[in-house]
Amino acid sequence: MKIIVTGGSGMIGRCLKDIINDDNEWIFLSSKDCDLRILNEVDNLFNKIKPDRIVHLAANVGGLYKNINNPISMFSDNIKINENILEICNKYDIQKGIFCLSTCIFPSNPSKYPMNESMIHESEPHSSNEGYAYSKRMMELQCRNYNKVYNRNYICLIPVNLYGPYDNFNLKDAHVIPGMIHRLYNSKTNNDEFYMYGEGKALRQFLYSYDFAKMIVEILDTYNENKSIICCNDEISINSLTNKLIDIINIDKHNIKKIDKDEGCLKKTSTNSYFTSLFPDFKYTNIDKGLKYTYDWFVNNYDNLRK
Ligand code: NDP
Repeated sequence: MKIIVTGGSGMIGRCLKDIINDDNEWIFLSSKDCDLRILNEVDNLFNKIKPDRIVHLAANVGGLYKNINNPISMFSDNIKINENILEICNKYDIQKGIFCLSTCIFPSNPSKYPMNESMIHESEPHSSNEGYAYSKRMMELQCRNYNKVYNRNYICLIPVNLYGPYDNFNLKDAHVIPGMIHRLYNSKTNNDEFYMYGEGKALRQFLYSYDFAKMIVEILDTYNENKSIICCNDEISINSLTNKLIDIINIDKHNIKKIDKDEGCLKKTSTNSYFTSLFPDFKYTNIDKGLKYTYDWFVNNYDNLRK
């Protein structure tokens, strides 16, 4: 079987490439192969490759401050990419695929915690990432519609914050873990102050990138239903995460200072009970180990990483 992976040059795409071990022909795409915002380019590429299945990872992705500073492109890039991909998947008769949402598209004031798969559209997302959130919500809607109208098996996965090797460590655009690793590394290297943003009270769930890549493979291989699946792990506070990284990176505690800054949504707790009911034996990477691997990878690949 020919499986096309959009976003193959991103963090999850590269982790997927590292772990796959089967007889399928996997094709990993980057934006150099095709700008997925342009329908004709997507059509020509799929016409050439003729894939049987898809793992759609490509997106304009970023942390809290990238979302706050670029609300228009976070919506319009993602809505174009996702619409084009779905239209062309259907045109070339791709029957099954994985489509990637995110728990940060969930309501900011949900009716209950933990949130589950049925609550995506319950009320508005947090204002800090409305553009990204609505574009991903529309992809969920369209997957459901293609499944209903064309009897497709387009499965939406809903991961929490992902982190690990190959992440984007850019100081302006990064998600919380790679951003913090890079800033702590700079503080250690220059024996400089490290600023914690806000009180660190916000709670977040983090999933190691290789764990998510393994989930994608298992779900694509064995899951034939259409219900979306949350992929998550335990919750910790940003404060506790910062302390773990301070220990791993071995920062002088005198250099840690606090400044007031937007902390985003204070809580987005979601449940993996549906995933666990499907894959009860799945083994998660412990966060201390995951953070240590990620930091070591960051140091060993410093010259070539996204930063
Ligand atoms: P990355 O930012 O690491 O990679 C993004 C990928 O998308 C890259 O391969 C990039 O190509 C490609 N891409 C972006 N724009 C275009 C475009 N216009 N045309 C073609 N390709 C494009 O993403 P992740 O691996 O971190 O994320 C994978 C998926 O998981 C995404 O859908 C994201 O929304 C979702 N997700 C991620 C989370 C996280 O914490 N990282 C959390 C929850 C969900 P190139 O390298 O050439 O630029």
